[in-house]
Amino acid sequence: PDTVRLLSSSQVITSVVNVVKELMENSLDAGASSIDVKLENYGLDRIEVRDNGHGIKAVDTPVMAVRHFTSKICSHEDMEHLETYGFRGEALGSICAVAEVAVTTKTEDDDISTQYTLNFTGDILSQKPSHLGQGTTVSVLKLFKNLPVRRQYYSSTKKCKEELKKVQELLMAYAIIKPDLRLTLVHNKVVVWQKAKVADHRSALLATLGPSAVANLTFHCLQSLFIDGFFPKPGADHSSTSSSTPDKTFIFVNNRPVQHKDIMKLLCHHYIAQYLDDPVSPSSLDVNLTPDKTQVLLLNKEAVLAAVDALLVSFYGCQPSSDP
Ligand code: ADP
Ligand code: MG
Repeated sequence: PDTVRLLSSSQVITSVVNVVKELMENSLDAGASSIDVKLENYGLDRIEVRDNGHGIKAVDTPVMAVRHFTSKICSHEDMEHLETYGFRGEALGSICAVAEVAVTTKTEDDDISTQYTLNFTGDILSQKPSHLGQGTTVSVLKLFKNLPVRRQYYSSTKKCKEELKKVQELLMAYAIIKPDLRLTLVHNKVVVWQKAKVADHRSALLATLGPSAVANLTFHCLQSLFIDGFFPKPGADHSSTSSSTPDKTFIFVNNRPVQHKDIMKLLCHHYIAQYLDDPVSPSSLDVNLTPDKTQVLLLNKEAVLAAVDALLVSFYGCQPSSDP
């Protein structure tokens, strides 16, 4: 059973950025307005995510990291109008199987915070009083300590730097979509990136990506689907003509940062076409999908893509894509 748990957990928890994403989403689900992400040795030695959310009730702490426990949905119907990022009760338990995890939490009703050390199966190993304020701090030590091949894979200097960049991009994505969220990213005690609370999406975009590089392109609604895309302004970065995927591209579906292959293809098509006389076939482009980027399936994909295509046409002033 330990092997089964390890295998299935290693499929849920694939990388440092994946751990940060799960913990941040838990913080956001807890109503946090401030999240601090701290990494040591690129997250391989320590990942710590601290929030000022509602905390975990004492009755829930024994089961918080038990597989398939979630405090977020009670019935099947809740699935229909999901407003939280999490609902499967899988992340925390899975992280426990591939690292050493401690959770410190305090709700409004608690007098002091308590630090819980969890074991491989997500059960409480020990607990002690702690001094932190309201909210939750999750510490993940020695990620992939029992998956030596994967730990080795993520230990190369190149991979480490890539992962740190991805963590920063992930934080930037939440910064854009959540203007009133305060965020910091610290690596080896150095502040790598931070963003204060701002008033609206426009200010969030400015604060996150700077004034010249990026424009908010789409805000599109199709039935219950909201897609926001933040793409480079036309002509913003001429040096990018040689690379197929522009930097600083963010796509959100219903406020979830996602990586959508077909929308990316359309974007690449239009982004590159602005510099060329001959339109590029999107199918010839490498959209560089990585497994740790979230992918989504869209129900009425054709209609969504046609709408995004039309918006991109008016934005970049190019021909519609014949092969979206
Ligand atoms: P899910 O998010 O799908 O419910 P998780 O395994 O990510 O599952 O978390 C399990 C449970 O632990 C959550 O349902 C929630 O009750 C609690 N929890 C985890 N992190 C936090 C947090 N930062 N603040 C408050 N509660 C949390
Ligand atoms: Mg979760």
